[in-house]
Amino acid sequence: EAVASQIAAGEVIERPASVVKELLENALDAGARQVTVRVEDAGRRLMEIADDGAGIAAAELPLAVTRHATSKLRSAEDLFHIQTLGFRGEALASIGSVSRLTLTSRPAQHAVGARLVVEGGTLRANEPLGTPEGTVVRVENLFFNVPARLKFLKRDITERQQIDALVTRYALAYPQVRFSLFQDGRAVLQTSGNGDRREILASLLGVDTARQMIEVALEDQDVRVQGYISPVALTRSNRREITFFVNGRWVQDSALSTALLQAYRTLLMVGRFPLAVLFVELDPEAVDVNVHPAKAEVRFRSPDAVFSGVQRAVRRALLTSSP
Ligand code: ADP
Ligand code: MG
Repeated sequence: EAVASQIAAGEVIERPASVVKELLENALDAGARQVTVRVEDAGRRLMEIADDGAGIAAAELPLAVTRHATSKLRSAEDLFHIQTLGFRGEALASIGSVSRLTLTSRPAQHAVGARLVVEGGTLRANEPLGTPEGTVVRVENLFFNVPARLKFLKRDITERQQIDALVTRYALAYPQVRFSLFQDGRAVLQTSGNGDRREILASLLGVDTARQMIEVALEDQDVRVQGYISPVALTRSNRREITFFVNGRWVQDSALSTALLQAYRTLLMVGRFPLAVLFVELDPEAVDVNVHPAKAEVRFRSPDAVFSGVQRAVRRALLTSSP
């Protein structure tokens, strides 16, 4: 079981940023208004995410780290009704099998909270504890028991940047939530939670670039596209700075960026790539997020409708912004 769960962990947890992604999504699923992320040694030594969300009852802490015990899915049909970011119930179990994981939590309505420690998949401690309302998840010594994975990590600066970019993107996707990110004690990101995306965009792209970004906003019957795209003066030589969120979930879906590129290039006659951050919202029933455990890909029930929505949104934004 330990080996099986380390293998399964490899599907979900590739690097420190994948841990941060799963923990951020859990905090957001718990309705957090405030999320604080602390990282040490590029995530190798520590990743800690504290939130003020719903918390986990003491009796349920062991289930939270048991694979599939908390899966929110009851039937295949449920896959089309997913309202939360997490749904497989495997992230915490996976993380706990390849690190030292400490979960400390208290739901608001409980007087006392609890703390649970799992190390390399083995339960080390589970005890009642006075703690503020909400949840703190600490992940220490990632991959301490999977040396092969450790070897695949990139240089610290790269792993750190991945985390910065990830947290900043989530901050942008959830501008009503207050995010803080500290790397080795240094504040990298602090958002106000006042809903203003421009402010956060500057953290992602730099002040000058953010100022030049063109706002995208399309509201259709079955698709809503919002976000930012760069003018022709600001392009890149690859598609790495094209980000899509679908129903609040960061996806890496090449079909979506290809659709965007088509519209962009047809209009502007450039061979290069825009910077873009786009938030696509559709009926949950129109998206299948069950393609990969890391949930980075999605499948649309009517892909053409989604792609054409993205293209219309981009075209309209570029046309109305041009001088
Ligand atoms: P999933 O998110 O797919 O359900 P996870 O392994 O990520 O699976 O989390 C397991 C469960 O633990 C969640 O379903 C949730 O009930 C609980 N949980 C995890 N993190 C938090 C959190 N920050 N606040 C409240 N509950 C949490
Ligand atoms: Mg989850």
